[in-house]
Amino acid sequence: MDPIVLIDVDRCVGCYMCQRACALAQCIEINEVTRFAEVVRPEDCTGCMACERACPYDCIVVVSDESQVPLRAKITLSRVRRYATKRLVLGDPRWSVRRGAEEMTKEGVGSLLLMNGTKIVTETDVLEAWIGGREEEPLINFSKDAITIEGKATVEEALRIMLEKCISHLPVIERGKLSGMISLRDVLRASSVTSPILDESILPINPREKIEKYAIQVPVVGKVTNRELYSILKERKLKATVVREGEKVGLISIRDLTKAMAKGKSLDDLIDPRWINPVSSEEQISKAIAIMMEHNLRHLPVFQGAELKMLSVKEIAKHAVWIKVT
Ligand code: SF4
Ligand code: SF4
Repeated sequence: MDPIVLIDVDRCVGCYMCQRACALAQCIEINEVTRFAEVVRPEDCTGCMACERACPYDCIVVVSDESQVPLRAKITLSRVRRYATKRLVLGDPRWSVRRGAEEMTKEGVGSLLLMNGTKIVTETDVLEAWIGGREEEPLINFSKDAITIEGKATVEEALRIMLEKCISHLPVIERGKLSGMISLRDVLRASSVTSPILDESILPINPREKIEKYAIQVPVVGKVTNRELYSILKERKLKATVVREGEKVGLISIRDLTKAMAKGKSLDDLIDPRWINPVSSEEQISKAIAIMMEHNLRHLPVFQGAELKMLSVKEIAKHAVWIKVT
């Protein structure tokens, strides 16, 4: 069995000691985006344990058999609480839907928690209200019961719930209290760092795989109004799509619709796309993930030959876990 190098990223300070210790095999690098140590060439690892000895913070464990993975590492590395963000954006249930859209835009989030986290209102909910001409009604009218997850649950469980319920965030509960949020992007981060912790349900993402495998076909639109974009996304069950005007390529998403609503635009105004350089489908998926993490993007336009496609955090995350279809 090949050696497995486990890195506890919660304690890693990016000091480069492990990277220097592995100068010969060059298996470990500090990720330029996350600033955490990362095993980039696991196939070249000799199991010499130099990295484990070099780490001043005891972040690294090298094992030669999966059964040797310390139980504590196995459990803690896959916990939701490890990857959840502490930042919670709470809304007032009496706010109007438009005020809710303004708050989401200001905070850069896709949902607001109401009533101590027992209710949630998402971008999709506020857009439904806008389309129905009900944007001045109280937010609470468009909220749903929040689906939550315990901090001690596993990341795979969080992903399973998010994919099953078609949601991208879950409020996290610790000792009966709201403590943070976990998103699909956090799951993606967890999938890359916990990949050595294998069990039957996890198929880790191979960072060298081509983007082609994950890119999905979407309608490529030109100039569209807010109303037209909403109906395209709703019909195709998408959160974003690719836009092309002449040589320029970009994205438009439900986040842009929420921004337009917050700015007081009308449904018949043209929507402003975000111009984003597409990545090539021939590139490695690790490059796309790094761009998405760095620029806080949930989607990326992709060129596959002459065709334009789209990459989404959800599509990448789906490949991280095998889900039994019943
Ligand atoms: S065990 Fe040795 S070869 Fe493997 S990552 Fe650590 S230093 Fe590099
Ligand atoms: S030596 Fe330890 S703390 Fe330093 S970068 Fe490597 S894993 Fe992180």
